[in-house]
Amino acid sequence: MAKINENFLNLKQNYLFAEISKRVGEFVTANPNAPLIRMGIGDVTLPLVPAVVEAGKKAFDEMGVKETFRGYEDSGRGYDFLRNAVAGYYKSFGATISADEIFISDGAKSDSGNIGDIFAQDCPVIVVDPAYPVYVDSSIMGGKQVSFADFVGFTAPKNSLIYLCSPNNPTGDAYTYDQLKQIVDSAIASNAVIIYDAAYEAFITEDDKPRSIFMVEGARQCAIEVCSLSKTAGFTGTRCGYTVIPQELEYHNLWRRRQATKFNGVSYPVQRAAEAVFSPEGQKQIQANLAYYKTNAQIITNTLTELGIEFTGGINSPYVWFKCPNNMDSWDFFDLFLNKANVVGTPGVGFGKNGDGWFRLTAFNTLENTQEAMKRLKSIL
Ligand code: PLP
Repeated sequence: MAKINENFLNLKQNYLFAEISKRVGEFVTANPNAPLIRMGIGDVTLPLVPAVVEAGKKAFDEMGVKETFRGYEDSGRGYDFLRNAVAGYYKSFGATISADEIFISDGAKSDSGNIGDIFAQDCPVIVVDPAYPVYVDSSIMGGKQVSFADFVGFTAPKNSLIYLCSPNNPTGDAYTYDQLKQIVDSAIASNAVIIYDAAYEAFITEDDKPRSIFMVEGARQCAIEVCSLSKTAGFTGTRCGYTVIPQELEYHNLWRRRQATKFNGVSYPVQRAAEAVFSPEGQKQIQANLAYYKTNAQIITNTLTELGIEFTGGINSPYVWFKCPNNMDSWDFFDLFLNKANVVGTPGVGFGKNGDGWFRLTAFNTLENTQEAMKRLKSIL
């Protein structure tokens, strides 16, 4: 038999979401009529905006006509029209990136998981804890050693790979310019590289928080940015994202080579739909959706403030991260919230050791369900 990649044996069982669905399943079997509200979901609920749907449909029509049909995309790293649109978007908030530095992909999960391919196995990996689990698991699959750091106040180890996510999943915290500059300076001093996941950048509302790491001086010397239209524009099922690698970094050509070998690009209709996200009409329409989720986040944070519960997030993020009431651990609070209020959230411990005793709620449910869930939270405390 062919030998397996034994690094996979070092992965922890992903018991978080499996355990959540087991507990919810048992609850629903015992209480089939319970009015369950799911506030743990990281998926969006609002549909694609009309500008996007229209552009996608038009592109599909083109694919059915001989003269406008398109097969494989030459470069596999995205059509010029979309890379130019992304570059223009960056420019709109003050980050200068050229279209040639952008690689269009099917999303930030693949890119943040695959980027490790271009780095040596003995590259030490630093992950901010708590974190989106993909950074840890994909590094382990590649045989890399992972250590953990707090969100701020760490020094980059020599020649390391540092995964940052801002606004962060699950805590909803976003770096300020100053905090990020410190990490960038530390990375440059240590010859480290930052993989910066900006999947939630569109939720940033505060002026002292950069939307891109490339808004921070020095980042071009040490950073790769991964981004996604999933949460920005409801593309979780449509699939499109992008990765930016400055041309002066040797990683640019390695990633280009890696993608040319293992990836054949994103479909033409999806790239046209993605282009529409960056049109004036598309931007107006997605802002309305983002405002809807932000209102939900505010309903959650207002309730936590009223209850005197410590929390982060909800301002620059669809995630609200709060300390479990009465010093409960994450799973005890999960059970209480499920059984007494019929609300499902996500136990913080599933995102890392620092998440123990914390809990994540998302703003992606409906306004009515969010209001009802918060009413129930108040009633059980
Ligand atoms: N990065 C972070 C931090 C996320 O939370 C998620 C999804 O929840 C992703 C990336 C995945 O993005 P995509 O849908 O583009 O693969």
